Amino acid sequence: MASRRDFLNPFRKFSEKTKESSPLLVRPPYGLSESLFQSECIMCESKACVASCDEKIILIGGDGTAMLNFTKSGCTFCEECAKACEDSGMSALNLEYKMYAQNINAEFRISTQGCVAHHGVICFSCKEPCLDDAILFNGMFNPVIDKDKCTGCGFCMGRCPTQAISYLPIEIIQKEESSL
Ligand code: SF4
Ligand code: SF4
Ligand code: SF4
Repeated sequence: MASRRDFLNPFRKFSEKTKESSPLLVRPPYGLSESLFQSECIMCESKACVASCDEKIILIGGDGTAMLNFTKSGCTFCEECAKACEDSGMSALNLEYKMYAQNINAEFRISTQGCVAHHGVICFSCKEPCLDDAILFNGMFNPVIDKDKCTGCGFCMGRCPTQAISYLPIEIIQKEESSL
């Protein structure tokens, strides 16, 4: 009997063709590549990852694939979305990919115009939720995000009283071969 995967393959090929030029989205962790998301995730009927996320940061975008939104909370790297995806018989997310993909594919930044600590006001609201200590202050002022330390968890964003923290989606970055 044909497997579910065999059945979906022709649709995946079609989906790959039509989505070649899609803009990048920020994905839940445990994905291997954007192309895998675009071919696999769009075919998912259960969308089980959404319900699995206690932080409620997984949304289904307009293209039918899973994406993250950090406006209210961030990712704890709890692994539940990957387990839900695997249990649904899909492979957009998989704990095995944890050893390949590095962090969440978002690059965070602090606006020097919007951030009050860049204008002489004491504020550490973003620093406290950053468990990776990736927000560096020069004394008490002028915070910047250390890209090497930032995991893209997103917890800092919703804490900023002036919405001075934003992010841009980037390609899912693979770990160096030597670190596997
Ligand atoms: S790892 Fe956990 S917190 Fe992060 S997106 Fe997945 S379910 Fe949500
Ligand atoms: S469960 Fe997996 S395949 Fe389904 S929507 Fe979520 S990430 Fe995509
Ligand atoms: S700066 Fe810290 S809290 Fe903000 S996204 Fe990066 S690791 Fe997460």
